[in-house]
Amino acid sequence: MNAVIGMPKPRIVVVGSLNMDLVLQVRHAPGPGETVLADNLRLVPGGKGGNQAVACARLGAKVHLFGRVGDDAYGLTLRAGLDADGIDHSGVQTDPNVTTGVAAITVDASAQNRIVVVPGANSRFVLDGAVLEPRLRGASGLVLQLEIPMPQVLAAAQLARATGCPVLLNPSPLHPLPDALWQLVDTLIVNEVEAGALADQRVATVAEAAQAARALRAKGPAQVVVTLGAAGAVAADAAGCRHHPGMVVQAVDTTAAGDTFLGALAVGLAQSASLDAALRDGIRAAALCVTQAGAQPSIPSRAAVAQSPQ
Ligand code: ATP
Repeated sequence: MNAVIGMPKPRIVVVGSLNMDLVLQVRHAPGPGETVLADNLRLVPGGKGGNQAVACARLGAKVHLFGRVGDDAYGLTLRAGLDADGIDHSGVQTDPNVTTGVAAITVDASAQNRIVVVPGANSRFVLDGAVLEPRLRGASGLVLQLEIPMPQVLAAAQLARATGCPVLLNPSPLHPLPDALWQLVDTLIVNEVEAGALADQRVATVAEAAQAARALRAKGPAQVVVTLGAAGAVAADAAGCRHHPGMVVQAVDTTAAGDTFLGALAVGLAQSASLDAALRDGIRAAALCVTQAGAQPSIPSRAAVAQSPQ
């Protein structure tokens, strides 16, 4: 869905992690005990909270980001990147006692990534309800992931529910979800692995993804989306389950594909698009993302998505 010219941008609040990604391009990822040479090293802003905030901003929303960084050079670089995307990061705390989060990422010749995360300041994020609550009022969505402590995720979702702000949860990295959180999620966005684990079943086919999506809806969320990599995504809501195929592109790096997909979906829903229209927009935006290397640099703008093939 394209942004409507002259329409005010929807406001989206993101509460989550910020990392500096150290991206190593390798021919193959090292096995146990193996040392490999990387072709290059790049420092790229990342973290699921930061990535999803950037995706929402580039795809058409006014974004308020809440999180925590260290009092170090990586933290300052991350803030500068958020400024460049017009993101309000006044809710991002600075922790004097711990480093900014770091993710060491290898990307191999077949575009598969492997990631080791140092949570750093992300693990010490403490929600300030008095600061978050006014941002949630009148916002079109609260976007959450699980790279910050679960009690803080739950507290943010509770505050959103109290203010009438819809909650979108991407439960990544995978953790068991407390019952109370299931009840507060309006839209759940999971990949195949997360869908399989949370629904306690195998998810390797579209039919199994649809079955898992139905099982996850029964736990609370009105809308469930299961992303299937190159195979696209499945949507489930009160009207049933639909599969939308992926776009055929030359993938070079799938890092941030899921975050880009979520950003487009969140903006679409915030602009009152149907679940299916917002999901198709997510598929188009994520297809563009996988044709570029890195996390945040590969997240496309609204204009780039509008110019991409249908
Ligand atoms: P990641 O962790 O790599 O960001 P994810 O595991 O959360 O991704 P995926 O299901 O792999 O999520 O991808 C999200 C969306 O990105 C898919 O639904 C699809 O639309 C798009 N996508 C991913 N990989 C490809 C690909 N190779 N070709 C085209 N589209 C892709």
